[in-house]
Amino acid sequence: MMAGSQGGNILVDTHAHLEMPEFEKDLPQVIQRAKEVGITAIVTVGTNLLSCQKTLEIVGSYKDTYAILGIHPHHAADVKEEDLGRLKEMAHHEKVKAWGETGLDFYRNLSPPQIQRERFRQQINIAKELKLPLVIHSRQATKETIKILQQEKAWEVAGVIHCFSADEQAAKKYLDMGFYISIPGVITFKGAQQLREVVKGLPLERILLETDAPFLAPVPYRGKRNEPAFVRFTAQTIAEIRGLDISEVAAITTDNARRTFDLDYI
Ligand SMILES: [Zn+2]
Ligand SMILES: [Zn+2]
Repeated sequence: MMAGSQGGNILVDTHAHLEMPEFEKDLPQVIQRAKEVGITAIVTVGTNLLSCQKTLEIVGSYKDTYAILGIHPHHAADVKEEDLGRLKEMAHHEKVKAWGETGLDFYRNLSPPQIQRERFRQQINIAKELKLPLVIHSRQATKETIKILQQEKAWEVAGVIHCFSADEQAAKKYLDMGFYISIPGVITFKGAQQLREVVKGLPLERILLETDAPFLAPVPYRGKRNEPAFVRFTAQTIAEIRGLDISEVAAITTDNARRTFDLDYI
């Protein structure tokens, strides 16, 4: 069970953007490096219609990669109604395991807040209709994210709070609604004391690991391009925080990913 090549631990990167231009030149090598350190599955996320089309091509070409389709809050304003219809059709593909990332980003506000809210509510209901778990992106919008998830009864499908960056009270509310909390490489950053404190108190069986590659590379690669193989540094940091061996963190979080995304082969 703990086996992995090079004595590594079996891990899942539950959130990467392999379709982005940063990976255009060397995607096969990126995926190979992940395999070599024991990453048994990569879940890759499309953010608008074109990016979701590319995402489906990738999961069609590489074993052990899975897709999340949806409209990112940054793209809420430039998506057309018929794009969502196309995405719903595409989501019937057997390797599509969740809907998202949807939510609110009031930090960058690349789409007007009111349009973000509408697209968010709409996509919660699409996920419910398709019976897919949700992947939620929330930045400087915790209160409103929780309010909308509650109002739209998102707990019927639940899913993942990706790139979690809020406080303990928010984590508890998300957990109460049945969501998993996904921890990015940010946890390795010197300034991430609050996140490390929150992770100390989270139930291990509700934690997922992610890179959000190509963004947010963990220490010792901070500032460089991130890639799925680096998810092991996040696992290592969580192991240190919790006083566990990395093999225990790997086994539990991989099992969590298997449940969340219905990866029954793991
Ligand atoms: Zn995101
Ligand atoms: Zn993302």
